[in-house]
Amino acid sequence: MEEVVIVRYSEIAVKGRHTRPRLERLLAKHIEEAMRRRGVEGRVERLQGRILIRDPSDSEKAAISAARVFGVKSTSPAKVVDFNGLDDLVEKAAEHFAPRVEGKVFRVTARRTGVHDFTSLDVEKELGARLLELGANRVDLHRPDYIAYVEVRGNRAYLYDRIIEGPGGLPLGSEEPTLVLFSGGFDSTAAAWLVMKRGSPADLVFFDIGVREVYNIMMEAAEALAREWIHGRRLKLYVVDFRDVASTVASNVRPKYRVLVMRRLMLVEAERIAVEKGYEALVTGESIGQVATQTVRNMRLIGSGVTLPVVRPVSGMDKDEVVRIVHRIGLYDIVSRQIEACRMGVDPTPRGDPAIFNDELGKVLGKYRIQVSEYEIGG
Ligand code: ATP
Ligand code: MG
Repeated sequence: MEEVVIVRYSEIAVKGRHTRPRLERLLAKHIEEAMRRRGVEGRVERLQGRILIRDPSDSEKAAISAARVFGVKSTSPAKVVDFNGLDDLVEKAAEHFAPRVEGKVFRVTARRTGVHDFTSLDVEKELGARLLELGANRVDLHRPDYIAYVEVRGNRAYLYDRIIEGPGGLPLGSEEPTLVLFSGGFDSTAAAWLVMKRGSPADLVFFDIGVREVYNIMMEAAEALAREWIHGRRLKLYVVDFRDVASTVASNVRPKYRVLVMRRLMLVEAERIAVEKGYEALVTGESIGQVATQTVRNMRLIGSGVTLPVVRPVSGMDKDEVVRIVHRIGLYDIVSRQIEACRMGVDPTPRGDPAIFNDELGKVLGKYRIQVSEYEIGG
Protein backbone atom coordinates (compact mmCIF):
# COMPACT_ATOMS: atom_id res chain seq x y z
CA MET A 1 0.00 0.00 0.00
CA GLU A 2 1.32 3.39 -0.98
CA GLU A 3 1.87 5.89 1.80
CA VAL A 4 1.18 9.58 1.28
CA VAL A 5 0.44 12.70 3.26
CA ILE A 6 -2.68 14.64 2.35
CA VAL A 7 -2.25 18.40 2.72
CA ARG A 8 -5.42 20.50 2.70
CA TYR A 9 -5.67 24.22 2.21
CA SER A 10 -8.72 26.34 2.22
CA GLU A 11 -8.52 29.99 1.37
CA ILE A 12 -6.36 29.66 -1.68
CA ALA A 13 -9.27 27.82 -3.24
CA VAL A 14 -11.42 30.96 -3.24
CA LYS A 15 -8.78 33.09 -4.95
CA GLY A 16 -9.08 34.11 -8.57
CA ARG A 17 -7.92 32.06 -11.52
CA HIS A 18 -4.71 34.08 -11.85
CA THR A 19 -3.63 34.27 -8.22
CA ARG A 20 -4.38 30.69 -7.38
CA PRO A 21 -1.61 28.87 -9.26
CA ARG A 22 0.97 31.27 -7.87
CA LEU A 23 -0.21 30.70 -4.31
CA GLU A 24 -0.29 26.95 -4.80
CA ARG A 25 3.28 27.00 -6.06
CA LEU A 26 4.35 29.10 -3.08
CA LEU A 27 2.63 26.69 -0.72
CA ALA A 28 4.27 23.65 -2.32
CA LYS A 29 7.68 25.33 -2.13
CA HIS A 30 7.23 26.14 1.55
CA ILE A 31 6.11 22.59 2.33
CA GLU A 32 9.24 21.27 0.64
CA GLU A 33 11.35 23.60 2.74
CA ALA A 34 9.52 22.69 5.95
CA MET A 35 10.26 19.02 5.28
CA ARG A 36 13.87 19.61 4.33
CA ARG A 37 14.43 21.62 7.49
CA ARG A 38 13.11 18.74 9.59
CA GLY A 39 15.07 16.11 7.70
CA VAL A 40 12.15 14.50 5.87
CA GLU A 41 12.18 13.49 2.23
CA GLY A 42 9.27 13.16 -0.17
CA ARG A 43 7.81 14.53 -3.40
CA VAL A 44 5.35 17.39 -3.12
CA GLU A 45 2.68 17.25 -5.84
CA ARG A 46 -0.23 19.53 -6.52
CA LEU A 47 -3.41 17.67 -7.29
CA GLN A 48 -7.01 18.82 -7.66
CA GLY A 49 -7.30 21.47 -4.97
CA ARG A 50 -4.84 19.92 -2.57
CA ILE A 51 -1.29 18.76 -2.17
CA LEU A 52 0.03 15.24 -1.77
CA ILE A 53 3.38 14.32 -0.33
CA ARG A 54 4.43 11.11 -2.09
CA ASP A 55 6.95 8.55 -0.80
CA PRO A 56 7.61 10.37 2.45
CA SER A 57 10.62 9.00 4.30
CA ASP A 58 8.56 9.42 7.47
CA SER A 59 4.88 10.17 6.93
CA GLU A 60 4.22 11.27 10.49
CA LYS A 61 7.08 13.75 10.42
CA ALA A 62 6.13 14.94 6.94
CA ALA A 63 2.56 15.59 8.11
CA ILE A 64 3.78 17.54 11.14
CA SER A 65 6.24 19.54 9.02
CA ALA A 66 3.59 20.54 6.49
CA ALA A 67 1.26 21.55 9.33
CA ARG A 68 3.78 24.29 10.16
CA VAL A 69 3.29 26.06 6.86
CA PHE A 70 1.08 29.13 6.59
CA GLY A 71 -1.80 28.41 4.25
CA VAL A 72 -2.10 24.76 5.26
CA LYS A 73 -5.41 23.94 6.89
CA SER A 74 -4.63 20.38 7.93
CA THR A 75 -2.61 17.30 7.05
CA SER A 76 -3.12 13.55 7.33
CA PRO A 77 -0.70 10.69 6.90
CA ALA A 78 -2.67 8.24 4.73
CA LYS A 79 -2.57 4.88 2.99
CA VAL A 80 -3.71 4.72 -0.62
CA VAL A 81 -5.63 1.79 -2.12
CA ASP A 82 -6.87 1.23 -5.64
CA PHE A 83 -10.17 -0.58 -5.73
CA ASN A 84 -12.80 -1.95 -8.03
CA GLY A 85 -16.33 -1.53 -6.69
CA LEU A 86 -17.75 -1.16 -3.20
CA ASP A 87 -17.05 -4.72 -1.99
CA ASP A 88 -13.40 -4.47 -2.99
CA LEU A 89 -13.07 -1.07 -1.29
CA VAL A 90 -14.68 -2.33 1.92
CA GLU A 91 -12.44 -5.40 1.97
CA LYS A 92 -9.24 -3.42 1.46
CA ALA A 93 -10.21 -0.70 3.92
CA ALA A 94 -11.26 -3.29 6.51
CA GLU A 95 -7.93 -5.03 6.22
CA HIS A 96 -6.18 -1.73 6.93
CA PHE A 97 -8.39 -0.55 9.77
CA ALA A 98 -9.20 -3.85 11.55
CA PRO A 99 -6.08 -4.00 13.72
CA ARG A 100 -6.46 -0.33 14.55
CA VAL A 101 -10.09 -0.41 15.73
CA GLU A 102 -9.84 -3.66 17.64
CA GLY A 103 -11.80 -3.36 20.88
CA LYS A 104 -12.54 0.30 20.23
CA VAL A 105 -15.63 2.46 20.05
CA PHE A 106 -15.44 3.89 16.55
CA ARG A 107 -17.08 5.43 13.56
CA VAL A 108 -16.37 5.52 9.86
CA THR A 109 -16.40 8.90 8.11
CA ALA A 110 -16.41 8.66 4.33
CA ARG A 111 -16.26 11.27 1.59
CA ARG A 112 -16.43 10.76 -2.11
CA THR A 113 -15.69 12.59 -5.35
CA GLY A 114 -16.15 11.11 -8.80
CA VAL A 115 -18.84 8.87 -10.29
CA HIS A 116 -19.66 5.73 -8.33
CA ASP A 117 -22.64 3.43 -7.98
CA PHE A 118 -22.48 3.77 -4.21
CA THR A 119 -22.72 6.68 -1.77
CA SER A 120 -20.48 7.79 1.09
CA LEU A 121 -23.12 6.52 3.48
CA ASP A 122 -22.89 3.06 1.86
CA VAL A 123 -19.15 3.05 2.57
CA GLU A 124 -19.72 4.06 6.18
CA LYS A 125 -22.36 1.39 6.77
CA GLU A 126 -20.64 -1.49 5.01
CA LEU A 127 -17.18 -0.79 6.34
CA GLY A 128 -18.62 -0.22 9.83
CA ALA A 129 -20.39 -3.57 9.75
CA ARG A 130 -17.28 -5.33 8.49
CA LEU A 131 -15.08 -3.81 11.21
CA LEU A 132 -17.56 -4.96 13.87
CA GLU A 133 -17.23 -8.51 12.51
CA LEU A 134 -13.47 -8.16 12.71
CA GLY A 135 -13.37 -7.25 16.39
CA ALA A 136 -14.24 -3.58 16.88
CA ASN A 137 -16.21 -2.91 20.04
CA ARG A 138 -19.14 -0.78 18.85
CA VAL A 139 -20.10 2.23 16.78
CA ASP A 140 -20.70 5.61 18.36
CA LEU A 141 -21.21 8.40 15.85
CA HIS A 142 -20.94 11.21 18.37
CA ARG A 143 -18.19 10.20 20.76
CA PRO A 144 -15.95 7.67 19.07
CA ASP A 145 -12.47 6.83 20.38
CA TYR A 146 -11.35 6.16 16.85
CA ILE A 147 -12.42 7.57 13.50
CA ALA A 148 -11.68 5.63 10.35
CA TYR A 149 -11.59 8.17 7.53
CA VAL A 150 -12.11 7.06 3.95
CA GLU A 151 -11.77 9.53 1.10
CA VAL A 152 -12.75 8.15 -2.25
CA ARG A 153 -11.47 9.83 -5.40
CA GLY A 154 -12.30 7.96 -8.57
CA ASN A 155 -11.00 4.44 -8.11
CA ARG A 156 -8.54 5.32 -5.40
CA ALA A 157 -9.24 5.65 -1.71
CA TYR A 158 -7.23 7.38 0.98
CA LEU A 159 -7.41 5.82 4.42
CA TYR A 160 -6.38 7.71 7.53
CA ASP A 161 -7.22 8.25 11.15
CA ARG A 162 -5.54 11.53 12.02
CA ILE A 163 -6.09 15.12 11.07
CA ILE A 164 -3.23 17.38 12.14
CA GLU A 165 -4.30 21.00 12.28
CA GLY A 166 -2.25 23.57 10.41
CA PRO A 167 -2.37 27.33 10.88
CA GLY A 168 -4.71 27.97 7.94
CA GLY A 169 -4.46 31.40 6.37
CA LEU A 170 -2.42 32.15 3.26
CA PRO A 171 1.10 31.32 2.10
CA LEU A 172 3.81 33.69 3.24
CA GLY A 173 4.43 36.07 0.38
CA SER A 174 0.86 36.30 -0.88
CA GLU A 175 0.53 39.70 0.81
CA GLU A 176 2.62 42.85 1.01
CA PRO A 177 5.41 43.07 3.61
CA THR A 178 4.75 44.61 7.04
CA LEU A 179 7.00 45.65 9.91
CA VAL A 180 6.15 44.37 13.40
CA LEU A 181 7.08 46.29 16.54
CA PHE A 182 8.35 43.24 18.32
CA SER A 183 9.28 43.01 21.99
CA GLY A 184 9.26 39.23 22.35
CA GLY A 185 6.32 39.43 24.76
CA PHE A 186 3.04 37.57 24.31
CA ASP A 187 1.15 40.24 22.42
CA SER A 188 3.69 41.24 19.81
CA THR A 189 4.63 37.58 19.23
CA ALA A 190 1.00 36.66 18.59
CA ALA A 191 0.58 39.77 16.42
CA ALA A 192 3.61 38.86 14.28
CA TRP A 193 2.40 35.29 13.81
CA LEU A 194 -1.12 36.44 12.92
CA VAL A 195 -0.03 38.81 10.14
CA MET A 196 2.30 36.13 8.78
CA LYS A 197 -0.62 33.72 8.84
CA ARG A 198 -2.48 36.12 6.59
CA GLY A 199 0.37 35.92 4.10
CA SER A 200 2.39 39.02 4.91
CA PRO A 201 6.17 38.45 4.90
CA ALA A 202 6.60 40.44 8.10
CA ASP A 203 9.91 41.55 9.55
CA LEU A 204 10.61 42.74 13.07
CA VAL A 205 11.84 45.90 14.72
CA PHE A 206 12.96 45.92 18.35
CA PHE A 207 13.66 49.04 20.39
CA ASP A 208 16.49 48.34 22.76
CA ILE A 209 16.49 50.44 25.90
CA GLY A 210 19.46 48.57 27.23
CA VAL A 211 18.08 45.70 29.31
CA ARG A 212 20.17 42.70 28.32
CA GLU A 213 17.70 40.03 29.44
CA VAL A 214 14.87 41.58 27.42
CA TYR A 215 17.06 41.65 24.34
CA ASN A 216 18.12 38.02 24.78
CA ILE A 217 14.59 36.70 25.17
CA MET A 218 13.37 38.82 22.25
CA MET A 219 16.16 37.32 20.13
CA GLU A 220 15.28 33.77 21.20
CA ALA A 221 11.63 34.40 20.34
CA ALA A 222 12.53 35.82 16.91
CA GLU A 223 14.77 32.83 16.19
CA ALA A 224 12.09 30.34 17.25
CA LEU A 225 9.51 32.12 15.12
CA ALA A 226 11.83 31.91 12.11
CA ARG A 227 12.80 28.30 12.71
CA GLU A 228 9.31 26.96 13.36
CA TRP A 229 7.15 29.01 11.04
CA ILE A 230 8.97 31.02 8.41
CA HIS A 231 9.64 29.24 5.15
CA GLY A 232 10.78 30.62 1.83
CA ARG A 233 12.52 33.66 3.27
CA ARG A 234 14.86 34.86 5.94
CA LEU A 235 13.47 36.94 8.77
CA LYS A 236 14.90 40.44 9.12
CA LEU A 237 15.29 42.01 12.51
CA TYR A 238 16.04 45.68 13.00
CA VAL A 239 17.41 46.55 16.40
CA VAL A 240 17.14 50.22 17.23
CA ASP A 241 19.41 51.46 19.98
CA PHE A 242 16.87 53.42 22.00
CA ARG A 243 18.94 54.11 25.12
CA ASP A 244 19.44 57.76 24.33
CA VAL A 245 15.72 58.16 23.63
CA ALA A 246 14.88 56.58 26.98
CA SER A 247 17.16 58.87 28.92
CA THR A 248 16.14 61.98 26.96
CA VAL A 249 12.48 61.17 27.66
CA ALA A 250 13.17 60.40 31.32
CA SER A 251 14.84 63.75 31.92
CA ASN A 252 12.51 65.93 29.87
CA VAL A 253 8.99 64.50 29.89
CA ARG A 254 6.64 64.59 32.86
CA PRO A 255 6.27 61.12 34.40
CA LYS A 256 2.68 60.37 33.45
CA TYR A 257 3.42 60.99 29.76
CA ARG A 258 6.76 59.24 29.46
CA VAL A 259 5.59 55.84 28.27
CA LEU A 260 3.13 57.44 25.86
CA VAL A 261 5.85 59.58 24.33
CA MET A 262 8.19 56.57 24.13
CA ARG A 263 5.53 54.61 22.28
CA ARG A 264 4.96 57.42 19.81
CA LEU A 265 8.68 57.65 19.18
CA MET A 266 8.80 53.89 18.54
CA LEU A 267 6.10 54.26 15.91
CA VAL A 268 7.83 57.27 14.37
CA GLU A 269 11.15 55.43 14.09
CA ALA A 270 9.47 52.22 12.91
CA GLU A 271 7.74 54.20 10.20
CA ARG A 272 11.01 55.73 9.10
CA ILE A 273 12.49 52.25 8.63
CA ALA A 274 9.31 51.01 6.94
CA VAL A 275 9.27 53.81 4.39
CA GLU A 276 12.96 53.40 3.64
CA LYS A 277 12.80 49.61 3.29
CA GLY A 278 9.41 49.24 1.64
CA TYR A 279 7.10 47.86 4.33
CA GLU A 280 3.53 48.89 3.75
CA ALA A 281 2.12 48.84 7.27
CA LEU A 282 3.22 48.72 10.89
CA VAL A 283 2.00 46.00 13.25
CA THR A 284 1.78 46.16 17.03
CA GLY A 285 0.61 43.87 19.81
CA GLU A 286 -1.68 46.47 21.32
CA SER A 287 -4.92 45.22 22.84
CA ILE A 288 -7.66 47.68 23.72
CA GLY A 289 -7.74 48.48 27.41
CA GLN A 290 -5.11 45.92 28.42
CA VAL A 291 -2.92 48.47 30.15
CA ALA A 292 -3.03 52.23 30.57
CA THR A 293 -1.01 52.84 27.40
CA GLN A 294 -3.59 50.93 25.42
CA THR A 295 -6.79 52.73 26.24
CA VAL A 296 -8.47 53.92 23.08
CA ARG A 297 -7.57 57.51 23.98
CA ASN A 298 -3.91 56.72 24.45
CA MET A 299 -3.76 54.64 21.30
CA ARG A 300 -5.03 57.75 19.54
CA LEU A 301 -2.27 59.91 21.03
CA ILE A 302 0.42 57.34 20.29
CA GLY A 303 -0.73 56.57 16.77
CA SER A 304 -1.81 59.91 15.37
CA GLY A 305 1.72 60.86 14.38
CA VAL A 306 2.19 58.19 11.76
CA THR A 307 0.69 57.95 8.30
CA LEU A 308 1.28 54.29 7.50
CA PRO A 309 -1.57 52.06 8.62
CA VAL A 310 -1.04 50.48 12.03
CA VAL A 311 -2.40 46.93 12.12
CA ARG A 312 -3.27 45.57 15.57
CA PRO A 313 -4.13 41.90 15.13
CA VAL A 314 -4.77 41.24 18.84
CA SER A 315 -6.62 44.48 19.57
CA GLY A 316 -9.87 42.65 20.26
CA MET A 317 -8.44 39.73 22.20
CA ASP A 318 -8.32 39.03 25.91
CA LYS A 319 -4.94 38.16 27.39
CA ASP A 320 -5.82 34.48 27.73
CA GLU A 321 -6.69 34.30 24.04
CA VAL A 322 -3.32 35.80 23.16
CA VAL A 323 -1.51 33.41 25.50
CA ARG A 324 -3.35 30.49 23.94
CA ILE A 325 -2.06 31.49 20.49
CA VAL A 326 1.51 31.72 21.74
CA HIS A 327 1.10 28.32 23.34
CA ARG A 328 -0.36 26.83 20.21
CA ILE A 329 2.53 28.08 18.06
CA GLY A 330 5.10 26.55 20.41
CA LEU A 331 6.67 29.73 21.75
CA TYR A 332 5.18 29.78 25.25
CA ASP A 333 8.31 28.59 27.06
CA ILE A 334 10.40 31.39 25.61
CA VAL A 335 7.90 34.22 25.56
CA SER A 336 6.57 33.63 29.09
CA ARG A 337 10.04 34.54 30.38
CA GLN A 338 9.94 37.99 28.80
CA ILE A 339 9.79 40.85 31.23
CA GLU A 340 8.18 44.24 31.00
CA ALA A 341 11.00 46.72 30.63
CA CYS A 342 9.38 49.91 29.47
CA ARG A 343 7.49 51.19 32.49
CA MET A 344 9.67 54.32 32.79
CA GLY A 345 9.05 54.45 36.51
CA VAL A 346 5.43 55.58 36.50
CA ASP A 347 2.27 54.23 34.90
CA PRO A 348 0.86 56.67 32.35
CA THR A 349 -2.40 58.48 32.76
CA PRO A 350 -5.09 56.29 31.16
CA ARG A 351 -6.67 59.33 29.52
CA GLY A 352 -3.88 61.42 28.11
CA ASP A 353 -4.64 65.00 27.19
CA PRO A 354 -3.82 65.69 23.51
CA ALA A 355 -2.47 69.21 24.16
CA ILE A 356 -0.25 68.11 27.04
CA PHE A 357 0.91 65.09 25.08
CA ASN A 358 1.95 67.27 22.14
CA ASP A 359 3.77 69.67 24.46
CA GLU A 360 5.67 66.83 26.09
CA LEU A 361 6.44 65.23 22.74
CA GLY A 362 7.77 68.57 21.44
CA LYS A 363 10.34 68.63 24.22
CA VAL A 364 12.13 65.55 22.88
CA LEU A 365 11.20 65.08 19.22
CA GLY A 366 14.38 65.11 17.14
CA LYS A 367 16.58 65.65 20.23
CA TYR A 368 18.02 62.19 20.50
CA ARG A 369 20.42 59.93 18.66
CA ILE A 370 19.50 56.47 17.48
CA GLN A 371 21.30 53.73 15.64
CA VAL A 372 19.76 50.89 13.68
CA SER A 373 21.40 47.48 13.24
CA GLU A 374 20.04 44.94 10.81
CA TYR A 375 20.13 41.16 11.28
CA GLU A 376 18.92 38.22 9.24
CA ILE A 377 17.65 35.11 10.96
CA GLY A 378 17.14 31.58 9.71
CA GLY A 379 16.88 30.52 6.17
P1 ATP B 1 4.14 42.69 24.34
O1 ATP B 1 4.29 41.79 25.50
O2 ATP B 1 3.78 42.05 23.09
O3 ATP B 1 5.30 43.64 24.18
P2 ATP B 1 2.58 44.27 26.11
O4 ATP B 1 1.28 43.82 26.57
O5 ATP B 1 3.76 44.17 27.00
O6 ATP B 1 2.89 43.62 24.70
P3 ATP B 1 3.29 47.03 25.78
O7 ATP B 1 4.58 46.73 26.44
O8 ATP B 1 2.46 48.11 26.30
O9 ATP B 1 2.34 45.77 25.67
O10 ATP B 1 3.58 47.33 24.26
C1 ATP B 1 2.58 47.48 23.31
C2 ATP B 1 3.17 47.15 21.96
O11 ATP B 1 4.20 48.07 21.64
C3 ATP B 1 3.82 45.80 21.89
O12 ATP B 1 2.91 44.77 21.64
C4 ATP B 1 4.80 45.99 20.75
O13 ATP B 1 4.12 45.90 19.50
C5 ATP B 1 5.25 47.41 20.95
N1 ATP B 1 6.46 47.46 21.79
C6 ATP B 1 6.57 47.69 23.11
N2 ATP B 1 7.85 47.68 23.52
C7 ATP B 1 8.59 47.43 22.40
C8 ATP B 1 9.99 47.30 22.15
N3 ATP B 1 10.89 47.42 23.12
N4 ATP B 1 10.38 47.03 20.88
C9 ATP B 1 9.48 46.91 19.89
N5 ATP B 1 8.16 47.03 20.07
C10 ATP B 1 7.71 47.29 21.31
MG1 MG C 1 5.77 44.53 26.27
